[in-house]
Amino acid sequence: ETVVNRIAAGEIIHRPANALKEMIENSMDAHASTIQITVKGGGMKLLQIQDNGTGILKENLEIVCERFTTSKLEKFEDLSTIATYGFRGEALASISHVAHLTIVTKTVNEQCAYRASYEDSKLKALPKPCAGNQGTQITVEDLFYNVSTRRKALKSVAEEHNRIADIVGRYAIHNSHVGFTLKKQGESLADIRTPPNSTVVDNIRTIYGNTIARELLEVDAVDEMLKLKLKGYISNVNYSAKRHIMLLFINHRLVESTALKKAMEQVYSIYIPKNNHPFLYLSLELDPRNVDVNVHPTKHEVHFLHEDLVLEKIKSAVESKLLGCNT
Ligand code: ADP
Ligand code: MG
Repeated sequence: ETVVNRIAAGEIIHRPANALKEMIENSMDAHASTIQITVKGGGMKLLQIQDNGTGILKENLEIVCERFTTSKLEKFEDLSTIATYGFRGEALASISHVAHLTIVTKTVNEQCAYRASYEDSKLKALPKPCAGNQGTQITVEDLFYNVSTRRKALKSVAEEHNRIADIVGRYAIHNSHVGFTLKKQGESLADIRTPPNSTVVDNIRTIYGNTIARELLEVDAVDEMLKLKLKGYISNVNYSAKRHIMLLFINHRLVESTALKKAMEQVYSIYIPKNNHPFLYLSLELDPRNVDVNVHPTKHEVHFLHEDLVLEKIKSAVESKLLGCNT
């Protein structure tokens, strides 16, 4: 049974970056305003996340790593209206099957923090009182130590670290009210540091550099009929890069849309030289009933109803901005 669980867990948690994404979302669900991440060995040796959110009640420590016990999903229909990131209750369970997982957490009413370690979704021993600030620290060590196929599928330490930094950067930009840091263990300088209550543009500058940040145009569009709201920042016609960077959030979930990416590439191709590419950060709100959210943590490609109409709307919003800066 443990082997089956381990394989299933490996299907959910593919690599350090996607374990971290799940944990960032948990911290956001816990209303954290600071999220500090420490990694070692591309997250394969160590992946640690410390937040200042609500913390976990001591009596819940026994069940947080059990699959589905914490699921906020009562009926399948709820999926469309769910307001939190988490709804499956399987991220921590999965991680505990394929790594050493330790939680240190303190809620506001507790006198002290509690430390609990897990293996195969079960507590290894009763939670122990310890020192700690309000919030939650989750430590994941030796990811995939017991799943050699997953371990072998990973890229180099540098590549896994880049993927982690990419995820952290994207969340930091979209959630500019939250302060993020990403550090390699033992190093004093952070790879990423965005203070709480920064602006989106501040954070684009911090993460992607000033060349991009100073060429940004703000987009803002609504469509009553499509129940669509678009906000974002896009590069102008003077900016060009070797690769297309698109940060796409739909209803605050980080997703990918090949169709939208192609559409944007097409709009820009009229204005910027061949082989050059835009930068786009787009935050799209759609009627949740029309979006197929990324139910599975490793599938990020998103599909939505009235896709053609939605794409047209975004295209025209972007195009009118580009036209404006061309004249
Ligand atoms: P889900 O988020 O789908 O409920 P997870 O496995 O990701 O499932 O997390 C299990 C539960 O553990 C959450 O529902 C939440 O109650 C608790 N939890 C996890 N991380 C945190 C955190 N950083 N702060 C507070 N509670 C947390
Ligand atoms: Mg979760």
